[in-house]
Parts: sequence; C-alpha cells; structure tokens
Amino acid sequence: MTNEWDAVVIGGGVAGLSAAQMLGRSRRRTLVIDGGKPRNRFAAHMHGVLGHDGLDPARLLETGRAEARAYGVEIATGTVSSLIDDGEFIRVERADGAVDTARVVVISTGIRDELPAVPGLHAEWGRTVLHCPYCHGWEVAGLRLGVLATSPASVHQIELVRQLSDHVTAFTAAAEPLDEDTTTRFAARDVGVVSEGVRAVRRDQDGLVITTEDGAEHIVDALFTGGDPDLRLEFAGELGLARSDMPGTPVAVDLRGATSHPRVFAAGNVTAPFANVPVSMGSGSMAGAGANAMLVAEDFRRAVADRADLRNAGWEERYAAENHFWSGRVNASVAAVVADLTPGTALDVGSGEGGDVVWLSERGWHATGVDVSPTAVRRATELASARGVDAHFVVGDGARSVEGEFDLVLASFLHSWEADFPRFRMLREAAARVAPGGRLLVVSHAAPPPWARELPAHMPPMHSPEEELALLDLDPAQWRPEIVELRRREATAPDGTHGHLDDGVLLLRRVT
Ligand SMILES: Cc1cc2nc3c(=O)[nH]c(=O)nc-3n(C[C@H](O)[C@H](O)[C@H](O)COP(=O)(O)OP(=O)(O)OC[C@H]3O[C@@H](n4cnc5c(N)ncnc54)[C@H](O)[C@@H]3O)c2cc1C
Repeated sequence: MTNEWDAVVIGGGVAGLSAAQMLGRSRRRTLVIDGGKPRNRFAAHMHGVLGHDGLDPARLLETGRAEARAYGVEIATGTVSSLIDDGEFIRVERADGAVDTARVVVISTGIRDELPAVPGLHAEWGRTVLHCPYCHGWEVAGLRLGVLATSPASVHQIELVRQLSDHVTAFTAAAEPLDEDTTTRFAARDVGVVSEGVRAVRRDQDGLVITTEDGAEHIVDALFTGGDPDLRLEFAGELGLARSDMPGTPVAVDLRGATSHPRVFAAGNVTAPFANVPVSMGSGSMAGAGANAMLVAEDFRRAVADRADLRNAGWEERYAAENHFWSGRVNASVAAVVADLTPGTALDVGSGEGGDVVWLSERGWHATGVDVSPTAVRRATELASARGVDAHFVVGDGARSVEGEFDLVLASFLHSWEADFPRFRMLREAAARVAPGGRLLVVSHAAPPPWARELPAHMPPMHSPEEELALLDLDPAQWRPEIVELRRREATAPDGTHGHLDDGVLLLRRVT
C-alpha cells in the first residue's frame, strides 16, 4: 500500500522530531519513520541542553513524539531502505516492504560512533567511556581521567579534558609521534602521557582498568575517546546528495537544511557529526521550516499553473488593448510544413486571432482553435466568417479544454512572458491529443530577433529545436521525429529595416 504525504522525516531523534514539529504545526501531512536507535541511547542522562539538564535522553524523545503527534504527525517504527526520485515526489521504501510517497523528505538519521577496536570499550560507552567533555565532563570533574587518542586530532580533546581535572593521563599511541610543542604543553600542565598502545579496558571496584600492550595497568575513573562518525546513507544513494569534507563526509546543507536535491532536506548529526542535542534540534527546526517553505512555494506555483484565467489574464489585456494584434496571416513555417500533409482534423493550441486555423480550414482541414483570450477567440471567429470557412474556436486552457483526438495538433509560438507559464506541460497535453498516425507540430521562437540583441528580461528562455525535443521528453517508442530544424525567415524590424527570425520547427509523428 502506498501512502501519500507532504513530508516524510527519516529518523526520529531530536533533529527529526524538531523538523516534524515544524511541519506538523504548518499543517503538513507528515510521517516520521524511525529505527529507534538514537546515538545517545547509551547514556542515562544528558547535559548541556537548556531546560533539560540531567534528563534521560529517552524521556526527551518521548515528549518530542507526543508534541509532534499533537500536531497531527504520524510516527512509525521502521527502517528506510531506499529513496527514489519520481520527479513530483520521492518514493520512500522501507525494509519491511511498506512504501510511502512524499513531496519533500527530511533526512535526520544521525551517525553511529565507530569506536576504537579495544575489547571492553563498547560495554562502557556512555557510562565511564565518554566522548564529549561538554556533555559529561562536569560529572567527572576533578577525578582521574584518561583520554584515548584516536588520531593526531585527539590532542585537542586531551587539552579540553585537562580543563576538567588535574589528573589526566593521555594514551597517545594513535597520535604518536607527538610534536615538540605538544610534548611541552602537556608537560607544562602535568598531562601524563602513555605511549604504549591500549590492549583492553575493564571495570572493577577501583575504577576503569586500562591495560596497555606492555602489560601495565592504569586506573582512571573515566576515559574520553572519539568514535569515527559512520553515516549509513546507502538508502539515499540514488539521489546523489552532495557531501561536505568534514570528518565522516556528512550531507552538505545550507542554513535552511536544503541539500543538493530540491526535495530533500537534512538535519542533525547526519549533516554535522559534532552537533550536540541543542544544535541538532536547531538544525532540525530549520530543516522542517525549510521543507515547509519549499512546499509553500510549490503550492503557489501549482495554483498559478492550474488557474489559466489568472495566469493568462495578461493575454486578454494585450488583445483587448489593441484592435488587431497579429496580421491574420498564417505563419510561414507552419504553412511550409503543413502544405505537405493530407488534410484531416486539426487542433491549434494557442490559436490567437485565428490566422493559422483559418488557413488550415481553407485547405480542407477540419480545424479547431483554442485560446485563453475571449477577445482573440471572438476575432478569430469573425475572421473565419469573413473568409467563409467553417473553423471552430474555443476559449480555454490548451488541449485540456477540447474533446477528442486529431490528425494534426499544432502549437505555434506558444510562448508567454508569465514566469509560471507551464509551456512543456501544455505541449505534452497537446501531444496526448494526437491520434495514432497523426502529427504534433511545434513551431517556436528559437532565438530573439537580431534587433533585440538579447532576450528581453521578461521573456521565457528560448530553445533550439533539439533542446525543445529533449525538454518535451516524449516516449521515443511512441514518437518519431520527422523534422527537427531551425528555419530562418525574412522579417521587418520595428525601425522598418530588413531582418530575419529563427523559427524552431518540430514535427513528430505518433507511431501506431
Ligand atoms: C554516549 C553519548 C552521549 C551523549 N550525550 C549528550 C549530552 O549529554 N548532551 C548533548 O547535547 N548531546 C549528547 N550526545 C550527542 C547526541 O547524541 C546527538 O547530538 C544527537 O543524538 C543527534 O541527534 P540526531 O537526531 O541527529 O540523531 P539521533 O539521535 O542519532 O537519531 C537518529 C535516528 O534515526 C534513526 N535511523 C537511522 N537510520 C534510519 C533509517 N534508515 N530509517 C529510519 N530511521 C533511521 C535512528 O534509529 C535514530 O533513532 C551524546 C552522544 C553520545 C554518543
């Protein structure tokens, strides 16, 4: 069964639940899918989280889930196994076979800490083996502290821990050789240095016993170390998300949590392995808001695209403002292509004042024109009647406003200065109305006129015929291109001088 959501949040830790809360409060249908293994589950209490000092991390998540649910968010237990880009939405598949679709996805799956391979270390992780002086340092301040270096970068962690206690021993094998400056700094602040590798760690009544390769035993009350951040992002592989060059190569995001994929946001440790709970919550909150803002923008775009009357109000204004807009003659490129075709039924999408449709009717076609402007349609009807042909005109929003299939569907200079004009959607709808064996003819401006020098800022981009064909994205098994050409025709510039116009001509045959 497939469920459709505005947003699916993958990972319900502090980052994911913060994102979900923002989305729920924005009345977005939101699902959180969570594997139930937050990174700090090994710790019984957390610190450095304003207003929640000493709280069990599991309690914070419990509260977060209840708060998100109060805003309509649904929370499911499960593991997301793949994300597939379906254009208008992302398909979210779970390991148990469940499938959801979402207009936007927030990835907040955290990291796993890959600990040094020292026997006994893992059992004490989150208890006496610690990673973050800010999270758990105060609780062991003044005690016997060890730091197990994992790389030369651990020198910084050793110095931070020294701030907490006068009794610090650094196990430096992974950071060796220590440079002279570091050796001096450690000596100056009485940091003990053990260069032998660590063989094992165990807890007994005296504390944490650290056995080194030479058999010596060192006893501390707590041992700090850093795990390697391990991101499990195979499920998002198909989306090719850009990564940053921080340790662990986390997902690259901007301040709103936007990734390199327009429908994917990310937050928490998966974007910043160093982030503690408050930082992860903050980034989750931003990603939830960012995802909602992306949906808001899309909702407006879609609404405009669906409202031909509003979208195309400008056309009616332009037609109504002048007596005649176009010449009433057929376009030369249209005439040249259609002259070779056997007359049948024809539909002209964006027929304007009817020049092409009337010309087709005069050559024996049963032609219909559709245009958004009532003024243009009235003039086209008058033109047909003046020329004594039986052409039919409809006020409407492209091919969707006309019934039936046609031997020829024509879209001639279907451009608009409206930013949200859905040209390729309209052309695809037009293509769908071509009868088997029939043809789609698209004639368009391939370049601005030479006297305009460059494309005016208010005009949509113009494409070569080859680009148009690619952007149309029609099924090659169903469509055979017959003409994909640039055709130049004579034209007169506004100042009366001679010039030319480049028309892109696409003639595609629908194979039966
Ligand atoms: C031992 C320890 C103690 C800590 N103590 C503190 C502290 O005291 N104070 C502090 O501020 N910070 C502390 N931290 C850091 C804290 O854990 C992180 O900042 C925080 O967990 C990051 O939140 P997150 O939401 O990004 O990831 P997580 O909390 O790790 O949540 C990620 C969630 O995503 C789920 N998930 C992963 N993959 C999938 C998938 N494919 N499908 C579905 N779900 C998935 C996981 O199961 C998990 O529930 C501690 C960390 C550790 C290791």
